[in-house]
Amino acid sequence: MLLADRSAYAPGTLDICGDPSLRRYWLDLFRHHMASASALVAREHADDPAFVEGMQRATEAFIAHVDTIAADATTGPFDTLTLCDARERALRAAGVDDPFRRVKARENAAALALLPAVLAEIDALHEAQRLEALVLGIFAGNVFDLGSHATAALWADGDAEFAVVRSRLAPRPWLVDDLDRFRKRFDAPIHRALLFVDNAGSDIVLGMLPFARECLRRGARVVLSANRTPALNDVTHDELVALVEEAAQRDEALRAAVSSGQLAIVTSGNGLPLIDLRTLGPELRAEIERHPPDLVVLEGMGRAVESNWNARLRVDALKIAMLKDVSVARHLGGSLYDLVCRFEPAG
Ligand code: MG
Repeated sequence: MLLADRSAYAPGTLDICGDPSLRRYWLDLFRHHMASASALVAREHADDPAFVEGMQRATEAFIAHVDTIAADATTGPFDTLTLCDARERALRAAGVDDPFRRVKARENAAALALLPAVLAEIDALHEAQRLEALVLGIFAGNVFDLGSHATAALWADGDAEFAVVRSRLAPRPWLVDDLDRFRKRFDAPIHRALLFVDNAGSDIVLGMLPFARECLRRGARVVLSANRTPALNDVTHDELVALVEEAAQRDEALRAAVSSGQLAIVTSGNGLPLIDLRTLGPELRAEIERHPPDLVVLEGMGRAVESNWNARLRVDALKIAMLKDVSVARHLGGSLYDLVCRFEPAG
């Protein structure tokens, strides 16, 4: 219902199945990522051996699945979306509901503690400086990503602190820099904004929530849409409901928007770090039908780039992400940690 042409839509940007070197790269990446996620879970859940064992079983099953694909060059089609889906299935089959639950909870608490200061900083800015500051906040928050090797390593080394990351972002013009075009749209009335959010922690709390709050301040009804079920360290719908409640206790504007219904939270129905816009859940479909958005924001590399870079929407769309994978960055003609802020008027 958001797509300009459903029949022309394919939720995959890179052909990782058909290109032999991409095929090798991505299958290796999925194998290694699962092994390091398993090691992380073993450290985080040392007090829960059954959980750690479940994670080990899921890891073995998923790596075996990837090995099967790798062993036969004719196996396919597959893409990052189907591989992510296979990983989640392996986890659920082994009884592992959410391997990153504890990490997310810790990061959420840390980000909430920083939220009042981040909001005060934005409120102190002149009107004309706000949007860029908010976008930089989204980029910086998006670094909390345990699905990417590069940023998971940053996080593990303690180098993913919000203010530090924000101060080190690539300067403008970014790899794709439609900020000035988007500013024109943002300064015009936005009636209903639908924000597809990505990760827990600083990403949602210090990046997307302040952006949502600015949309609210400008009079828009805002819908935050997160996954129904866990995927990597993406914030889930249930976590988001609790987070927004916590944030509202720390900020009057958010509190007012929640109680008036100007800010709503509706699950996307998704359970992957990427999103196929044809398979939105019934709650979000009903919401879109009742209140058609005039701005859609797809945030994060998985949703904005890997699955929807080429998607044409019927409404104005902002695709915003930090590129945290070399091959995705290369595909767009850039390099690791490049930033994209792509604005596409309704197609
Ligand atoms: Mg994510």
